Amino acid sequence: MKKNNSKYIFVVGGVMSSVGKGVVASSLGNILQGKGYRVANIKADMYVNIDAGTIRPAEHGEVFVGEDGIEADQDLGNYERFTGQICTRDNYITTGQVYQEVIRRERNLEYGGEDVEVYPDIPKEIIRRIEQCQQKNNSEITIVEYGGTIGEYQVLPFLEAARMMKSKNPKDVAVVMVSYLPIPKILGEQKSKPTQYAIISLNSAGLSPDFIICRSEIPASLSIKRTISTICSIPEDRVISAPDVYSIYDAPINFDDQKLGENLLKVLGLKPKRTDMKEWRALSKKIKNIKKEVTIGIVGKYFNFKNAKDTYISVIESVYHASWAEGVKPNVLWLDSEKYEKDAKLLSELDGLDGIIVPGGFGNRGVEGMILAADYARRKKIPYFGLCLGVQIMTIAYARNVLGLKDANSTEMNADTPHPVIATMADQVEKIKNKNYGATMRLGVYDCVLGEGTIAKAAYDQSKVSERSRHRYEVNPKYIPDLEKAGLVFSGKSPDGILMEIAELSLKDHPFCLGTQFHPEFKSRPLAPHPLFSAFIQACVGKAKN
Ligand code: GLN
Repeated sequence: MKKNNSKYIFVVGGVMSSVGKGVVASSLGNILQGKGYRVANIKADMYVNIDAGTIRPAEHGEVFVGEDGIEADQDLGNYERFTGQICTRDNYITTGQVYQEVIRRERNLEYGGEDVEVYPDIPKEIIRRIEQCQQKNNSEITIVEYGGTIGEYQVLPFLEAARMMKSKNPKDVAVVMVSYLPIPKILGEQKSKPTQYAIISLNSAGLSPDFIICRSEIPASLSIKRTISTICSIPEDRVISAPDVYSIYDAPINFDDQKLGENLLKVLGLKPKRTDMKEWRALSKKIKNIKKEVTIGIVGKYFNFKNAKDTYISVIESVYHASWAEGVKPNVLWLDSEKYEKDAKLLSELDGLDGIIVPGGFGNRGVEGMILAADYARRKKIPYFGLCLGVQIMTIAYARNVLGLKDANSTEMNADTPHPVIATMADQVEKIKNKNYGATMRLGVYDCVLGEGTIAKAAYDQSKVSERSRHRYEVNPKYIPDLEKAGLVFSGKSPDGILMEIAELSLKDHPFCLGTQFHPEFKSRPLAPHPLFSAFIQACVGKAKN
């Protein structure tokens, strides 16, 4: 089972989910990389879905698109942002994938006449996938994050996989439990009992934590660290305090300060090859000293649930990265487009913004409000950045208000529109007709050729770029000549010239009105902002100055 003497770290959740397990797993990747190790991060989700592509954004949060087109959990975005390592389908496991493969093999008589059992065949397939990711990335340390919390029914085969790996090679596997220390209002102090129960539950799966990360609003007190260390039979320095931080990019620094990296390496029988977090620490310091604000409104529709930030996380992070590089602090506002449909006078609130983003989305709801906002931004010369659905909205608004095609629309929103300026790509027609929705969009990286003398070309400073897509609809080729004649510039195209990848207005007409059919937000990094986000923020800062 063991390959290349590589090491594995399992990150599991105790007490409750949504306390930042993904940031912990990403931070581990970051600090171990800083100590000179090649790392890979894996997310294992417990749901039966094959991927995240069919889950409602308001239910699941952002669907992150990997380089190879995998539609994955948003944690893969954090992995990429914290480690710079490109994620593909090898970095993402779901219960659905595991069962699908085991059943496929059974149908092919690959189990040699044996009966196929949940135990051990399911954990074995989980292990095969983890090791496959390790091999493809040639990682020295592979960090595997389990979604949800221990104690959930569906996590058992995954815990068993970790137990099997650890029992075979105890020195090569470490377990990190991310816990939560609640502070009941009535007591005003941190309580460790839920963590203790979580440990018992992990023990009953045959595992014990090597490290406990104590998430809480405030640092873990010394006495609570002592209690937890006694209960877990681990030294106190393996109980890590993880209070809320100013920015998520402070998390690796907080862990490094507590020597989590060194101690993890020690548990795995390794030594740091170097220590380097200079640039990361400099960024963290810089962020805290920025005073000047830039106000960006996100005109979207997936705000009606627990955490709107999760739905647009890569977009928001990209705004942060670019803003910090420009020396400004972003103030991001959520603007529900549906309100503009009910009362167009409310659009005047956009005057107070330095820039507007219309992000990705699906279906009819809220689209008319987005079109109104895009047209308002064009007329009032407010910097506008459209991402995927956002470029379609910009094109529809332009067709309606500049070309005069009154009922122009996307066929996604109105199949009978007299002016389908946005329509299904040719290869999508059959798929939609047959309800073949899973993993059938235009997904993953595609090349895009940039036009001379355009904002896009100046921003990238390259002639050809490759970006990640996730969509079914495109600018309808029939309308391209008229749109161009009316002043819309298609500054990025597929190499065969058929698909319009970027649309923009010329600088003489607008300070920044640009939309991309792809999703640039998936490629922005804290230390390397995406060029188009940088160009957008520069225009916003320009407006803020005027
Ligand atoms: N719904 C649009 C399409 O499928 C836009 C998709 C998106 O924003 N990701 O083309």
